[in-house]
Amino acid sequence: MINIPKGTKDVLPSQSYKWQYIEDTARDVARVFNLKEIRTPVFEHTELFKRGVGEGTDVVGKEMYTFEDKGGRSVTLKPEGTAGAVRLFVENGLSSTPMPVKTYYITPAFRYERPQAGRLREFHQFGIEVFGSESAETDAEVIFAASSFLGKLGLSGTRLEINSIGCRSCRADYNRALREYFEPRLGDMCETCRTRFSSNPLRMLDCKEEKCREISAGAPSILDYLCPDCRGHFERVKALLEESGLAFTVNPCIVRGLDYYTRTVFEFVSDAIGAQGTVCGGGRYDGLVEQLGGAHTPAVGFAAGIERLMLLMDNIGAKYPEEPKVTVYVAGMDEPTRAAAFSAANRLRADGISAEADLMSRSLKAQFKYADKLGAEYVAVIGSDELSENEITVKNMESGKSERIKINDLYAYLKKEI
Ligand code: ATP
Ligand code: MG
Repeated sequence: MINIPKGTKDVLPSQSYKWQYIEDTARDVARVFNLKEIRTPVFEHTELFKRGVGEGTDVVGKEMYTFEDKGGRSVTLKPEGTAGAVRLFVENGLSSTPMPVKTYYITPAFRYERPQAGRLREFHQFGIEVFGSESAETDAEVIFAASSFLGKLGLSGTRLEINSIGCRSCRADYNRALREYFEPRLGDMCETCRTRFSSNPLRMLDCKEEKCREISAGAPSILDYLCPDCRGHFERVKALLEESGLAFTVNPCIVRGLDYYTRTVFEFVSDAIGAQGTVCGGGRYDGLVEQLGGAHTPAVGFAAGIERLMLLMDNIGAKYPEEPKVTVYVAGMDEPTRAAAFSAANRLRADGISAEADLMSRSLKAQFKYADKLGAEYVAVIGSDELSENEITVKNMESGKSERIKINDLYAYLKKEI
């Protein structure tokens, strides 16, 4: 037999209700924040991610699923959702519609990483992207949407950490200061940090190696290098969060893994899932739309990893609603009563009630046993006796109450009961 590829996961029939719950919760958050769904292809031209996510990032440098299609084009399975969302925004002229353009997506994403708990090669993200507003209210609204999503899932204990990484102009000064600090210490730092030193020293703060973290701890803080505009923006974001009672800590080491961020960056982090503690990450990316060929458009968004959220929910014992059970099992005994049961089940389904009838030629006794396994709320039986009078005996499996009614009244009867 052929196995599932490494780093991917099946969703089994007994588990899919959990996925549906998380997706329904995401859509409900999107609804109250008036975000509209977008869907972009699973693969895009490789160039989009190279330019959009950034050549210097781990994602583009090491993790992309890139291949040539039969027409000789280089295409890549999306490693994240933002670049595609920006392409959609630019290509479809959404910049000429009223601003802000508020979007969300639920998408698979692909990264060639070393699989471990909370780190897969195919994973899923719920993300939102809001285009066209520079205001701090927008950053705060996006953070609130993330917080509300986590809260609804019972994960309000997740920590919010925020930072500002400034704009291009404050970043230039800061990069200079970082290089000055790191240069004499480079010998003690990892290979990756040494390459980042010249390409993008900011990313050195994101290194997970213990020795690099120790060195980074003493590095100058970006917050001391923000220009007045970026500082004002960050103060306003913090004030808005405070005013609404959303607790956060400022962590000047958060820089995020992707190149496109400017100003506000944030993460929701948990200690309950080991090293991969970030369940949701996001920030502002004011230069990306322009970089991908659109008019200058400020934007801000986040993405939450669904598998990581599920891992966290399992680890802290967060509850899912109960798996929905079938409402009624309709049983028959011989050919005519089975046919009547079959059509009764179909009529219920047409009216929106979930129903099952025998597909396995089981005896009546075996049907009862099976209905019990399914957790059916009602079992309705049509015996020869009942059939001759167009009747059916309905039993409430919980209370044990049993009633004989007209088959035609079954829908109305159940509707009244449930
Ligand atoms: P990490 O530091 O964990 O590698 P990242 O900075 O690469 O995260 P983002 O690109 O910001 O992550 O993606 C947003 C979210 O998507 C992460 O916070 C995480 O929940 C989830 N995520 C990212 N990569 C993976 C993966 N390989 N497997 C499962 N979930 C992932
Ligand atoms: Mg990563």
